[in-house]
Amino acid sequence: MSAPIASDPARVVDAAALRADFPILDQSVNGESLVYLDSGATSQKPQVVLDTEIDFLTRANSAVHRGAHTLAAEATELFEDARETVAGFVGAEPENLVWASGATLALNLVAYAIDNATAGRGAPASARFALRAGDEIVVTEAEHHANLIPWQELAARTGAVLRHIPVRDDGTLDMDAAAALIGERTKVVAFTHVSNVLGIVNPVADLVALARAVGALTVMDACQSVPHLAVDLPALGVDLAAFSGHKMLGPYGVGGLYGRTEVLEALPPFLTGGSMVTTVTLDEAGFLPAPQKFEAGTQPVSQAIALAAAARYLDGIGTDAVHAHEREIGRRLLTGLDAIDGVRVLGDPGADVDRVGLASFDVAGVHAHDVGQFLDARGIAVRVGHHCAKPLHARFGLTASVRASASVFTTDDDIDRFLDAVAGVRSYFGAEGATA
Ligand code: PMP
Repeated sequence: MSAPIASDPARVVDAAALRADFPILDQSVNGESLVYLDSGATSQKPQVVLDTEIDFLTRANSAVHRGAHTLAAEATELFEDARETVAGFVGAEPENLVWASGATLALNLVAYAIDNATAGRGAPASARFALRAGDEIVVTEAEHHANLIPWQELAARTGAVLRHIPVRDDGTLDMDAAAALIGERTKVVAFTHVSNVLGIVNPVADLVALARAVGALTVMDACQSVPHLAVDLPALGVDLAAFSGHKMLGPYGVGGLYGRTEVLEALPPFLTGGSMVTTVTLDEAGFLPAPQKFEAGTQPVSQAIALAAAARYLDGIGTDAVHAHEREIGRRLLTGLDAIDGVRVLGDPGADVDRVGLASFDVAGVHAHDVGQFLDARGIAVRVGHHCAKPLHARFGLTASVRASASVFTTDDDIDRFLDAVAGVRSYFGAEGATA
């Protein structure tokens, strides 16, 4: 048994009560009541989100922006209202939110739009994004592959050089290295708000200041922040930011790309086709202003409408309250893991940084996949593997780790059941002699 961990009496979220909103949690897995600690991979959806999508499909489903009939008008209104709600959730205006199928598409959209600008496509203002051989794209060592590989590909296509800000042993970004790295050649700085492996909130204001000082474009991966803390994208000052619906209690197949007005206006489109044009001849086409310029083809309409319900649900709890709850859950998780022999948390669990409720760890002598199966047999769902962050795992000398990640409905009991189970892993596998 791990040592008891005190709870913070000032808790503002009644996670146990919120569980009733998530029907999926009310089930047994392998004979045990489900403990879902994999919200970092995908979140569970409250009933109101499921109902909103079904209700739209049952009652008002229709093609948006084109039909002359009543249902089409209603669908369009619901869809554009959803844009306003989701944009508002991240502090933005509706015209600054582009729908995408998820964060991966949103980040690729930006990289391909810059590629198009490099090829001379777009309005005259697009030229400011063009990359030349020797220009630099700066990422961090902590990126999810979705905010790394598109930049590798862009660098390969344009002759730009990809550089990275290293992660320190404690899991924080080496900001001295960042200051030395970001210079006159830097054209893009792409970084994650919160690492999906470490759970640490990165110093966005400092990164934006460094990038702005040299006129570089900032692109933020907000997948692991938007669901868990109050995020005001305009106030953070980033040029572009991507987030994912399915990680913020919303449906699959929808996400957002936020962009500052002048950036969205000047970026050339990536995907082209229907719904994003003004005039079309056999030879050429003119494009609508943003956000429609970036929304070629049929959009994830029912998903966007349900995502707005997820944003309203989180707003109803209060994003500061969500963060306070998940920070406290994260503290319990880290304190408990740190106290178990043979468990090594990636990064310093005691580092004085802001976090979300997420931690990755290695158990000495036991493969992450075995740990995952051991926990699954006890009804506990975690993620194992490299979590699409291979370079960060390599930096910590690992190929895989176990990740536990929380949500609004995660209770102290969930964490305690998880910690008790982890404490029994090494003896079960006869690995007590191994060192981390
Ligand atoms: N970035 C981070 C930090 C993530 O955790 C994920 C999801 N694993 C992504 C990007 C990709 O998001 P999506 O699933 O919406 O493409």
